[in-house]
Amino acid sequence: MAAPEHVVIIGGGLAGAKTAESLREQGFTGAVSLVAGEKHLPYERPPLSKGYLAGEASFNESAVVHQADWYHDHDIDLRLHTRATGIDRAAHEVGLDQGEPLRYDKLVLATGSLPRTLPVPGADAEGVHTLRTREDSDHIRHLFGPGRRLVVIGAGWIGLEVAAAARGAETDVTVIEAAELPLLRVLGPQMATVFADLHREHGVDLRLGTGLAAITVRDGRAVGVELEDGERIDADAVVVGIGVTPDVALAEAAGLETDNGVLVDASLRTSDPDIYAVGDIANHDHPVLGRRIRVEHWATALNQPRTAAAALLGGSDTFTELPYFFTDQYDLGMEYLGHATSESTAQVVTRGDVAGREFVAFWLDGQGRVEAVMPVNTWDVLDRIKPVVTRRRAIAPERLADPAIPWEEL
Ligand code: NAP
Repeated sequence: MAAPEHVVIIGGGLAGAKTAESLREQGFTGAVSLVAGEKHLPYERPPLSKGYLAGEASFNESAVVHQADWYHDHDIDLRLHTRATGIDRAAHEVGLDQGEPLRYDKLVLATGSLPRTLPVPGADAEGVHTLRTREDSDHIRHLFGPGRRLVVIGAGWIGLEVAAAARGAETDVTVIEAAELPLLRVLGPQMATVFADLHREHGVDLRLGTGLAAITVRDGRAVGVELEDGERIDADAVVVGIGVTPDVALAEAAGLETDNGVLVDASLRTSDPDIYAVGDIANHDHPVLGRRIRVEHWATALNQPRTAAAALLGGSDTFTELPYFFTDQYDLGMEYLGHATSESTAQVVTRGDVAGREFVAFWLDGQGRVEAVMPVNTWDVLDRIKPVVTRRRAIAPERLADPAIPWEEL
């Protein structure tokens, strides 16, 4: 395969920036263009619902991937505030909303996700917020404070992290979740209960199994919510965190194969051999898990670009990392590695003090193999436990639970 002369990357999030970085790290000396829709230098999003939202960390230090001089020093043609409008696969060109189209030999899509909007009346009123960008995080932070009332819709990662940051600023917080527990689908009932207890102990009014009928609106502004049972909850603002949809508009318009994201092979190559996809949009044929998986988490955006860069430069690399994510809420910090299926969310084994929130949880499949692990307030152990998940061998639950057995012996 002839080496590409020009690589174009669409998407100015972590995945886009890391693709540019990986290309240079792997010795690529051709042209690299990075098309970023936002006006900010490419940034990562975890701080937007954690330290930056809580006012504890600066945007530049906690979120920006590389400073402006890095792009200059590495000869990256960074196009901020520029949107790709279409991909002409036959001509190998990306149309832009300003300037001439960009020609590419290889193209990497890192277009990320868009927040889902609420399908209820009043959802578009002023004072109803989603959280995706720096500006969203700034707006939401300004809603916090003693005596202010915030309703959060959705007890997923965004909803719970926003609730924790808001409570930290003494805001009154009500969280409304359709499911019977927060994070139920991801963690299963036993571990989801840990998060429900955590938030209730910190003063969140957690309404579970509750449907939302409408956002109540006065003079065009949200003033609360109405639940399906008719109850009304007053609020100064509403934050909606009910999930995201992968932004596959460009990929679909270009005729790439899509199905719950952009379909990519083990090397992150799409149905067009000159186009790759990384991060939230990549529905990846995972060689270790043996099935397709699309992961909307920071670590995927961080790590997939290295594989995509190597593959598009002619290597035969495949992406084998297991999904990883972390959260910080109040005094609970946790990491999670692996991917629990609905089968294993029913079978959780723990080691340590669950009531004291210092433990490690394991999710087991039907054959007793560990599918995922979650250390909670237990640091520097994940690397030691990792083989328990990656080797995919059955381990007796008693051994997993026994603190006398060193991780290495498992
Ligand atoms: P999410 O984690 O998928 O959670 C959405 C939650 O909203 C789910 O619990 C969902 O329940 C619930 N829900 C859906 N429709 C609802 C409705 N009409 N009324 C009430 N509840 C409803 O998505 P997110 O919190 O919006 O986060 C967006 C993305 O950012 C996700 O991909 C997430 O993984 C990522 N993120 C990750 C982290 C982290 O890793 N720490 C932090 C922030 C964001 P069902 O599951 O039953 O549908």
